[in-house]
Amino acid sequence: MTVNIKPPVRREAMRIAGKLVSTDDMLEVRNPYDNTVVGLIPAARPEHVRDAFAKAKAFKPKLTRYERQQILQKTAELLRDRKDEFARLITAEAGLCWKDSLYEASRAYDVWSFAAQLTIKDDGEMFACDISPNGKARKIFTTRQPLLGVISAITPFNHPLNMVSHKLAPAIATNNRLVLKPTELTPLTALALADVLYEAGLPPEMLSVVTGNPSTMGDAMITDPDADLVTFTGSVRVGKHIANTAGYKRIVLELGGNDPLIVMEDADLDKAAELAVTGATKNSGQRCTAVKRILVVESVADAFSKLVVEKARKLKCGDPMDPETDVGTVINERSAQLFEARVEDAVRHGARVLHGAPRQGALFHPTVVDHVPYDCELVHEETFGPVIPIVRCPNDIAAVIAISNSTAYGLSSGICTNRMDYASRFVAELEVGTVNIWEVPGYRIEMSPFGGIKDSGLGYKEGVVEAMKSFTNVKTWSQPWTA
Ligand code: NAD
Repeated sequence: MTVNIKPPVRREAMRIAGKLVSTDDMLEVRNPYDNTVVGLIPAARPEHVRDAFAKAKAFKPKLTRYERQQILQKTAELLRDRKDEFARLITAEAGLCWKDSLYEASRAYDVWSFAAQLTIKDDGEMFACDISPNGKARKIFTTRQPLLGVISAITPFNHPLNMVSHKLAPAIATNNRLVLKPTELTPLTALALADVLYEAGLPPEMLSVVTGNPSTMGDAMITDPDADLVTFTGSVRVGKHIANTAGYKRIVLELGGNDPLIVMEDADLDKAAELAVTGATKNSGQRCTAVKRILVVESVADAFSKLVVEKARKLKCGDPMDPETDVGTVINERSAQLFEARVEDAVRHGARVLHGAPRQGALFHPTVVDHVPYDCELVHEETFGPVIPIVRCPNDIAAVIAISNSTAYGLSSGICTNRMDYASRFVAELEVGTVNIWEVPGYRIEMSPFGGIKDSGLGYKEGVVEAMKSFTNVKTWSQPWTA
């Protein structure tokens, strides 16, 4: 049964230090499934961005740990109480299916409530100095302080609520001020989240949300003189542009991936096939840590690919508004066309399509492709959709590791083996930020360190604990009293 869970068209304003600010020029936000307009957002000019940073910089946050904990926990609870409302917005603007959107809303609760719990933890360290002949009777302490300037946060479309939450919650937990630029593709959820924060008691000067076309106002977010740190989640292309443009500023870049799921000959193939299909298709395959390549050793590849097809056939792909749907649309038709072209290219290079259905607009059905050459574009680049590509590898762990490491990315990985010697080698030798044994690459809790190396990022981690560290300055101080 399809239920109407689409909100009416929302005519939005930016939130600049809590004030609603609009522009004559508005951008449309479209539902990827039926292409209807679901929202209109202001197209900010660089001066709007400047104004937001200046207002943030002029405000000095004075919230105690207790007050921050209360705001963060209240936000978590409001999100939990309104999860249907948020899921409706996510499905409307991103085309993600209702099941995925509900899951996203429940993950956001975790982000905010973990941040609330971590806020009241003491953050300092202590060093006694009388520990060597060079020491003396003193003590050194550290304390973490908010940045002197403002955080510039830029977020992608694929998790409209969760990616934004991963920037905002740790920033507020550490008493920072932010200017957020959500993607122009899914900005409505971020604007609704800002309202929840104001309602929960956040001083409005601590958070502004600006919207618009990145070609007009993107650089203003990166180069503003009051921005101390740019935290960005998105594509490698834009991440490298930020790295080249930001100048003398801290940057935290969480970029793309093409994560492998590795299946060795001893693996329980049914369990491995389940991880492969779920990992490649959840969130319409649009997770930075989605399974984007399945590296399976040749000796079990026939049996494994049969199981993958059986499981992929059970997925219902279609109207994202239908609560029974497992896979909604990808973000837009242009992306779906790109995936289609990449599958065709793989076929030209010897791959075989074992399951799929014709594309309908932005609806790209889960597509199982076997015998994919490890170096063709479908798996060598990041294919951000529900393709399930099987790459057959020699029966040799060294060759599997070499193939896995052969791309520019290094985000995460999933491993299907029970052999400890294999597991140890994968942990030691895969060039990635995470290795999950018997789990999808995307498995994590919202607090654990998360992030990639190589083109996937500069090695700084996200996750609430690590983000709270990167959003603070460590001050070291010492005193002569030692008791
Ligand atoms: P994108 O890079 O196209 O856009 C991301 C953000 O950057 C958007 O807000 C966009 O408006 C903005 N932007 C674009 N050009 C800009 C410019 N010149 N200056 C300033 N900002 C600019 O990415 P996307 O398509 O929205 O998201 C998908 C990508 O994000 C995928 O590559 C995915 O793997 C990655 N991602 C990574 C992680 C991670 O944690 N590593 C998590 C989620 C998504």
